[in-house]
Amino acid sequence: MSILVVGSVAFDSIQTQSGSVDHCLGGAATHFALAASYFTDVRVIAVVGKDFTAEHEAVFTRRGIDTRGIEHADGLSFHWTGSYVSSLNEAETLGTDLNVFQTFSPKIPEAYRDSEYLFLANIDPVLQARVRSQMPQVRMVCGDTMNYWIADHAANLASVLRELDVLLINDGEVRMLAGDRNLVLAAEKVLTMGPKTLIVKHGEYGATAFFGQHSFSSGVRALHPFRAPALPLAEVVDPTGAGDSFAGGFYGYLASQPELTPAVFRTAMFYGGVMGSFAVERFGTERLQNVTREEIDERFRLFKEISHLEYANT
Ligand code: AMP
Repeated sequence: MSILVVGSVAFDSIQTQSGSVDHCLGGAATHFALAASYFTDVRVIAVVGKDFTAEHEAVFTRRGIDTRGIEHADGLSFHWTGSYVSSLNEAETLGTDLNVFQTFSPKIPEAYRDSEYLFLANIDPVLQARVRSQMPQVRMVCGDTMNYWIADHAANLASVLRELDVLLINDGEVRMLAGDRNLVLAAEKVLTMGPKTLIVKHGEYGATAFFGQHSFSSGVRALHPFRAPALPLAEVVDPTGAGDSFAGGFYGYLASQPELTPAVFRTAMFYGGVMGSFAVERFGTERLQNVTREEIDERFRLFKEISHLEYANT
């Protein structure tokens, strides 16, 4: 089944303890689409500038990603400058050049109308809402956001939250959104804002899902939160896009399954961790472009092994 993603396709300039890169292909929609493409069909809505070449587009099309919704505008593509020199778990934003994003008005190609899954990657909630309202028939809507929108665009974000089946944000953002320092209480509050389910990303410590009364349609209820690990890695070259790759693996797997059950949801969280762990091994999208299905399956087995209770003496 097809996922439609709207978000940034960008160039990133990144500094980490392993080195730095200038203007490498990035963007939330890019990382998401590449990760999800290993599981299902993906279609992208974004805007790029003249600096986005046929070679950049081939990064998407080589993975079978539909790029007909990527609009080419006059000017330069969105450019993000960030540093992880002081902390690998949180990016320090050094610059955000919106460029062609400033006047972006998402248009949905006719061929995308039958998409069943919608992912609203981290962009202005006004744009997220505009895409959501043009896709009323989708089966599921999943979304991301960031501290900037939580702090300064609360009202616009509130209307997006009401439309979401799953909200995926990091733990600092959950606490900020809820105004509560305790993660469980903060998650409960966020679930009253609209999302049926909340996934909290903890960077190198994995992710936790908090379920509400309507997380599963068949009347099935998940009584407890579910936590999936991240893979302990000796070297993290570049954490950029780890969250979007987690989302891509998670949502891509969900979209490949006939039904959303608690077991499918939990498995999807593991695939999220798998794709996030690949993303951080190289700068930019380099690793996500070249991973193989065998490597994904092998790492999934490893994730199972590092977290299975059957290895404990119970
Ligand atoms: P992540 O590390 O998964 O949270 O996402 C990193 C990606 O988000 C980078 O590739 C950036 O290009 C993109 N990004 C950073 N800031 C913004 C923003 N304000 N709006 C849209 N995309 C952004």
